[in-house]
Amino acid sequence: MAFSDATRSLFAGTLQEIQDKGLFKEKRFIRSPQGAEIEVEYPEGAATARALNFCANNYLGLSNHPEVVAAAHAGLDARGYGMSSVRFICGTQDIHRELQDRLTEFLGTEATLLFPSCLDANAGVFEAVLGAEDVIIADRLIHASLVDGIRLCPAQYDTFKHMDMKHLRKKLELHADKRTRMIVTDGVFSMDGDLAPLDEIVALGEEFDAMILLDDSHASGFIGRTGRGTHEHFDAIGKIDLITTTLGKALGGASGGCVSGRAELVELCRQKARPYLFSNSLSPVITAASLKVLDLVMSTTERRDKLEANTLRFRQGITAAGLNVREGVTPIVPVMTYNAKLANDMARDMYAEGIYVIGFSFPVVPAGAARIRVQLSAAHEPEHVDRCVAAFAKVGEKYGVIGLDKKGIIEKYGM
Ligand SMILES: *Cc1c(COP(=O)(O)O)cnc(C)c1O
Repeated sequence: MAFSDATRSLFAGTLQEIQDKGLFKEKRFIRSPQGAEIEVEYPEGAATARALNFCANNYLGLSNHPEVVAAAHAGLDARGYGMSSVRFICGTQDIHRELQDRLTEFLGTEATLLFPSCLDANAGVFEAVLGAEDVIIADRLIHASLVDGIRLCPAQYDTFKHMDMKHLRKKLELHADKRTRMIVTDGVFSMDGDLAPLDEIVALGEEFDAMILLDDSHASGFIGRTGRGTHEHFDAIGKIDLITTTLGKALGGASGGCVSGRAELVELCRQKARPYLFSNSLSPVITAASLKVLDLVMSTTERRDKLEANTLRFRQGITAAGLNVREGVTPIVPVMTYNAKLANDMARDMYAEGIYVIGFSFPVVPAGAARIRVQLSAAHEPEHVDRCVAAFAKVGEKYGVIGLDKKGIIEKYGM
């Protein structure tokens, strides 16, 4: 028997260790389309309950927007369901080209290449573009998929302390002898919701002749005056050499990603990036629906403006209620508990109050920095936001964390 009892108990033991540390991820099921109000089966097997959803990346409320759904139906009828091919063999339709061109226009770049996901874009871009003579200098809190992509690339890898521009400068000085330098950062960091200081990064890039790769997955569609992303917010459109982003968050929420930027770099990805060469094409359904998403996003700022208003309302409300939150401007609002069990317990009680949120702990965030991450959406109405704040006030009261700062919470619950 290949999977012997001894082998099975080895893996069962690993799972038990995850359980014992309180880090086991429970299964959660949703029985409705994605939206502000969802139907949830939780715990597994329980009767369906309605809840307000505050943990989706559905920032613009487009995941189940009627016009997007209609465009998906029309795309299905016009171009079929699947491509059964990678892009370069027979997996590229005219609508893939059209979507790339629209993304180029939206992001203000020179060229764009679609990937099955942004994880795939990040997995492919570094190895396609850089070699052993080059250096990658990345923020220490970049997304896991960037770290994985960097691991696959022979370039030297160095890091700078999170958003620490003095440290980045030092590293750029240190690596002045390399053939090229590439600075890598997220635009909006997914766990803290903080914005990379892209204006300063661009200035350093110019000073030290370093390219910049920006992963704008948590920004594309809603950060910046017209929602183009972090580079718009910092008035740096046209100054970012590579942008990777996802269609799986604000921009419709299905799946798909891209590399967008300097024409030569994007062409190198088309020639060499392994997920482009060896993984299947984005489905025509998603491609057609994504074109509609870009139409909606580029024709009006109504949704990103509503998201901004909801974010402000929540941030003001939750702060006034006395919960411990990280300050910021993005729709990612971490309600800090520091202690992992407290995050899970409070999230469970929030669910009992009809608010669907999740506790995040190590390894998704650093140990001792557990939190409930709240995400606002343009799909929320002001009264949804108020109900979420009220539930936090009630649950926070139950656990005695109202008005406590970091030190106070840690004294009471430990890390
Ligand atoms: C979500 C996310 C990804 C992965 O995007 P997918 O398209 O779902 O693979 C990559 N980078 C960042 C920063 C993300 O937040």
